[in-house]
Amino acid sequence: MRRSKAFIPTTKEAPSDAQLASHIFLSRAGFVTQVASGLYNYLPLAKRVIRKIENIINEEMAKVGAQEVELSFVTPADLWAESGRIEKFGKELLRFKDRKNNLFVLGPTHEEMMVDLVRNRVTSYKNLPLNLYQIKTKFRDEARPRFGLMRGREFIMKDAYSFHASNEDLDREFDAMEAAYKKILTRLGLDFRVVEADSGAIGGSGSKELMVIADSGEDTIAVCSKCEYGANIEAAKRSARGNIPEAPEAEFNKFLTPNIKTIDELAEFFKVDAYYTVKCVAKRVVYADESEIVLFFVRGCDNLQEAKAHNATDALDIVDVTEEELAELGLVPGFIGPLDQDKAKHVIDSDLKNAAHMICGANEVDNHFVGVDMSVLSETAYFADIAEVNEGDICPDCDGVLTFTKGIEVGHIFKLGTTYSEALNAKFLDENGKAQPFIMGTYGMGVSRLVAAVVEQHHDDNGCIWTKETAPYIVNIMISNIKDEAQVALGESLYAQLQDANVDVMIDDRKERFGFKMKDAELIGFPYTVIIGKELVNGEVQIFDRKSTEKTAVKSDMIFTKVMELL
Ligand code: ATP
Ligand code: MG
Repeated sequence: MRRSKAFIPTTKEAPSDAQLASHIFLSRAGFVTQVASGLYNYLPLAKRVIRKIENIINEEMAKVGAQEVELSFVTPADLWAESGRIEKFGKELLRFKDRKNNLFVLGPTHEEMMVDLVRNRVTSYKNLPLNLYQIKTKFRDEARPRFGLMRGREFIMKDAYSFHASNEDLDREFDAMEAAYKKILTRLGLDFRVVEADSGAIGGSGSKELMVIADSGEDTIAVCSKCEYGANIEAAKRSARGNIPEAPEAEFNKFLTPNIKTIDELAEFFKVDAYYTVKCVAKRVVYADESEIVLFFVRGCDNLQEAKAHNATDALDIVDVTEEELAELGLVPGFIGPLDQDKAKHVIDSDLKNAAHMICGANEVDNHFVGVDMSVLSETAYFADIAEVNEGDICPDCDGVLTFTKGIEVGHIFKLGTTYSEALNAKFLDENGKAQPFIMGTYGMGVSRLVAAVVEQHHDDNGCIWTKETAPYIVNIMISNIKDEAQVALGESLYAQLQDANVDVMIDDRKERFGFKMKDAELIGFPYTVIIGKELVNGEVQIFDRKSTEKTAVKSDMIFTKVMELL
């Protein structure tokens, strides 16, 4: 491509709301333009990167025997009613009616559509397993679209769905897909980690996320210092605590604690470790057509993990409550405890089951109980894992220590089981001629998010640094002075040679200052720029390596060979 003809509208200014490097550089370097909140146009450079990612995905999917399809983006709302997800997905699901008053949604994910495609078409175990995938625009009316391509409303997802006759076969496919996804990310040149994940609204049992490691990532992941264990903080587990602080000795008693409302104040007042205090987090839990106040109890040294709280209550949403709302139920903020279960629903962290020597609110102004033995609650109370793991907690799989790092979720794979096939009545005949629901897996990968993730991991202050497999053009030929015939001649012949060798090459043939053109090349992030400049009179040109920013002198008659060696 000739830079003089290319549609690459670079700018000095980044969008005013852009904070992330990927958002700033993809906008400034002319890869994307924003249309409205969470909606982007992909310009030629972005299209080329996307195509490269898609090619790698297609190659790896072919190797595991998955077949590409493309399903309608506009999907009948009836299917979503059949699966029951029309409510669960809430406002993210964009609904609309056609001229005949039929209700449709823009597909945010395609489980229902895939099950509908396969039901009554695949009818025998002999045709299983089957793995179908597509690379397709998705729409989710995200509450807070942000960070450019990272969290759009319209975005590109690669989504695969597998159908099996047995759980063993699903397990095999799940492992094969995990391996394929790892291969894809490795080929893209990304540093990533596969972690255990929360299954969220899609449901199912086993679920793993593929996280690209980046400080700007929205997800916190807990990783073990010793073993392979890694988990999204939403799903992370820990071993029982080892170095338990010394327990306060006290008989069960009510104690006057004037104005002592926070855990810090409480621990200080009684001179105990917060481990022996009970923290109450009151929330309003929203269901399909009602809501209620729920009191979540965790140890004072822990925090409530919202995703776990969602799962424990089957909530559609969890929102904050005011002190007035609590007062209406007769609850006293700062002094709420788990012993009186009549005023609101309780969910108590499993770590508090049978906990002794505890201090908790007495549900009375300025009063706490001491010497509480939580085992008195075991019969009646609802216990669930709702506490967030803390950095320094012990790994659930070994005696290593958990540390936190940030990640960008670029893929999510699930063992769905029969959730959707049962809901949509999709069955096959097994070896004994008995009708059975398909056992399913689902595997998503964020293609447009990957474009941003590559830049998050590979950039510097001057712009993008594309990896070899993702670069829109791998070589940029810079003719320093377009009026110098010798420079032009060499540039053009190298351009022709590289094109013949099927190298993705750009030639910067613009009548601009050298400095301006180099800045532009750095912003776009071509891995290599061949600089044909003044030294050509001495038979020398340079190769600029975008990653190391080093320039290497090369004999001009060796340049083609040298470039081919680099690739
Ligand atoms: P997130 O937690 O980031 O909202 P999700 O868990 O809702 O994502 P999935 O339903 O697992 O997403 O979708 C599969 C993949 O699609 C994700 O792993 C992610 O890479 C991508 N993806 C999801 N939502 C978006 C979005 N709004 N913009 C870009 N990519 C997205
Ligand atoms: Mg996910």
